[in-house]
Amino acid sequence: MSESLAIKVSKTDSSRLPQVELKNIHFGHVFTDHMLVADYADGKWQSAEIKPYQSLTFAPSLAAIHYGQSIFEGIKAYKNAQGEAVIFRPEENFKRFNESALRMEMPEVPAEIFMDGMKQLINLDKEWIPAMENHSLYIRPFMFATDEFIGVRPSATYKFLIILSPTGPYYDKPMRIAVEEKYTRAAPGGVGQAKNAGNYGGSLKPAQDAIRNGYDQVLWTDAFEHKWLQEVGTMNVFFVLKDAVVTPSLEEGTILDGVTRKSAIVVLREMGLKVEERRVNVQDLIDAYEKGEFLEAFGTGTAATISRIKELSYKDKHMVFDLDKAEVSKELAGRLNDIRTGVAEDKYGWIVKL
Ligand code: PMP
Repeated sequence: MSESLAIKVSKTDSSRLPQVELKNIHFGHVFTDHMLVADYADGKWQSAEIKPYQSLTFAPSLAAIHYGQSIFEGIKAYKNAQGEAVIFRPEENFKRFNESALRMEMPEVPAEIFMDGMKQLINLDKEWIPAMENHSLYIRPFMFATDEFIGVRPSATYKFLIILSPTGPYYDKPMRIAVEEKYTRAAPGGVGQAKNAGNYGGSLKPAQDAIRNGYDQVLWTDAFEHKWLQEVGTMNVFFVLKDAVVTPSLEEGTILDGVTRKSAIVVLREMGLKVEERRVNVQDLIDAYEKGEFLEAFGTGTAATISRIKELSYKDKHMVFDLDKAEVSKELAGRLNDIRTGVAEDKYGWIVKL
């Protein structure tokens, strides 16, 4: 691994920021002035550089394109109430990134490149963090195989990059969700717990089919019986029952270990609620709904934080929720937002200042 690899910095001499309207900016289209690029070869990280955001060029034989050794993360930075740039729990994403790397037989990225590089990069482009309510800077670290070779084997060379994208409010449109009965996102022993590109490619057809049927997303189920609930689209899922808040457990390795999920569990417990991480069967939810004991459902993820579910459908059973009464998700979203924006005390050390 790299013994204290120095990050070279080459700054742009003309910022694009004056041409960008940061208010209400759409997610994922605009990138800041700089990016971080690090190269791996001969068993170690060779170089890391922050330089002007620019295109990359590759040979058509680039390994990542053919065999999918490609992983990523998603993190957010904010301007807090004091106008300081802060990042929400980036250490968790750093750990998860390296777990994804190991599962995909890729090299781990050291903290000097991932964490220090990310902070330096954000610091350089901090004027790009919108200082408006519900706006943020989305951070996208990613790594892919760069051998120019057609053949199924782990690549010997890789590129790690971080790019930054300012983003406006994520419109919290309550979701209509269909429980998936045909397709599977992940099976035990597979790659469900990794954040590799292929998981997302494979999810697109089932998600589009759901949209074609009038839903917003699918609720993934297990690979064998299609009745054990997993996660909703690219979010973890929580069900508020009369006696406890329940979320599918991570034990089988088929669900992404979400940073928002683990934060939500802590905050829900702080709210005095009982939280259970366990297997959740769709029929049990239907039975609870019929008894009036299934009160709310919501997704958690970096993009939207909390996304409320207004309808959950399984075969011809449509479970509909009155969002005016969805007190738990509302309170949770407010508390998480207060921690991020510095309104509430950061008791758990989740906020990293630059
Ligand atoms: N599940 C999947 C499949 C995801 O892509 C994401 C987004 N990273 C999540 C859950 C939520 O994870 P997090 O809270 O860390 O964003």
